[in-house]
Amino acid sequence: MEVAKTIESVRSLVKAARREAKKIGLVPTMGALHIGHISLIETAVKECDFVVVSIFVNPTQFGPTEDFEKYPRPLEADLEICKKAGIDIVFAPATEQMYPRENFTSVNVEKLTEQLCGRSRPGHFRGVATICAKLFNIVQPDIAYFGQKDSQQAIVIKKMVADLNMPLRIAICPTVREPDGLAVSSRNQYLTKEQKKEATYIYKSLQKAQEMIDAGITDCETIIRQMYSILNQAPSIKIEYVSVVDAETVQNIDQIAGKVLVAVAARIGLARLIDNILVDASKQ
Ligand code: AMP
Repeated sequence: MEVAKTIESVRSLVKAARREAKKIGLVPTMGALHIGHISLIETAVKECDFVVVSIFVNPTQFGPTEDFEKYPRPLEADLEICKKAGIDIVFAPATEQMYPRENFTSVNVEKLTEQLCGRSRPGHFRGVATICAKLFNIVQPDIAYFGQKDSQQAIVIKKMVADLNMPLRIAICPTVREPDGLAVSSRNQYLTKEQKKEATYIYKSLQKAQEMIDAGITDCETIIRQMYSILNQAPSIKIEYVSVVDAETVQNIDQIAGKVLVAVAARIGLARLIDNILVDASKQ
């Protein structure tokens, strides 16, 4: 496994692989790798001949009051995980490598970024789309792997790739959870044991929504009300949003129909946690 710190070195390593007609996979991450990231990495290793994992805590997707400074950066442990997983290259650039000068260019995916996390994190998805566009241009993968856990991110990146005719496929992998249902996240590290227990109410509320939809309930307000009553059982949860949106347009809906995304964002202690379920109501 090679560790590339510069754009030039990752480009020349990938170029050599491409000359051998290898299928290139990219797994973009911010590091602090956990079993969620590993599932993406394993899928990439299975489906591709040459896999690049990028590790970069991207400053442009953090708001001024967010956790950019204290975001965990255990690089040595991350490299060990990548090595064990059979990765070919870890691309771990410094901030100056990715942003050597003031950027006048960014990628803004409209409409899909207005709801859910886009409301409380202005500029977040512009930062995400821009860094992904940069990584796609640097690595030029055939397939890039993302997690369903960050559902709005997945929708936004897919739209960017389609709208800008980027020559790659976006693969979305299922959310990996702890045995108690909590979605695995690098930010779970910020939680105390007690808060972690309370955080399981997020997935409990989503399971309730799934149950209600399975039972034929189509009124979104009724579903959201039930979800609130579950989340309110955990006193340290501060709900940011509980939303039911169309999974393609990311617009709020009144009635369950077609593909819908049920999504929650909440703060517990120092952590901001998100989770979601994707339901295809046409198959109910
Ligand atoms: P991050 O390092 O948080 O930017 O995440 C890198 C990638 O891993 C993103 O595509 C995430 O959606 C994905 N990811 C993070 N947590 C999970 C999880 N629990 N299950 C599946 N994918 C995940």
